[in-house]
Amino acid sequence: MYRMRTWSVRHARWLKVAYAGFEALLRLCAPVFRLIGYDRLDKPFVAVEKVTKGWFLDSQTCGQCIVGFTGLSCPMNCPKKMRNGPCGGVRPDGKCEVDPEMNCVWVLAWEGNKRFGTGEYPIQKVQPPVDHRLLGTSAWLREVRHKTHYEGPEVVAANEV
Ligand code: SF4
Repeated sequence: MYRMRTWSVRHARWLKVAYAGFEALLRLCAPVFRLIGYDRLDKPFVAVEKVTKGWFLDSQTCGQCIVGFTGLSCPMNCPKKMRNGPCGGVRPDGKCEVDPEMNCVWVLAWEGNKRFGTGEYPIQKVQPPVDHRLLGTSAWLREVRHKTHYEGPEVVAANEV
């Protein structure tokens, strides 16, 4: 929901803290996830992500979420899908040059980074391009796997291609 985008950016600090707690919980569940199988869990997780992140962030379920770097502003809402900063066409009032009805996602991203209140600006980290093979998959599970250093058989197989 578009209106929630700006709300979430304004409340980026506590939402980020809440997500960190949630992610810690998911990491604790990692052994169970391995037993069940990450592939089997992907669809239900995506369904939950679509509802929750869709509501709060207008998430487009790219499967490689970077809102922790972008002040909770989802870069997939940029009409040009810019992943590393604005296109240069931002209007003087901070609106998008393509869609003047919405704020530029990168103006919001900067605002969200300030709202983190940590003095750090993760927005400055260079992000890889979108991997279209991951669209519509669970970013939460991917993060858990990454942080628990788990590469399941399907990941190994994909890397061998
Ligand atoms: S102004 Fe911002 S949101 Fe609009 S296309 Fe450019 S980078 Fe994307």
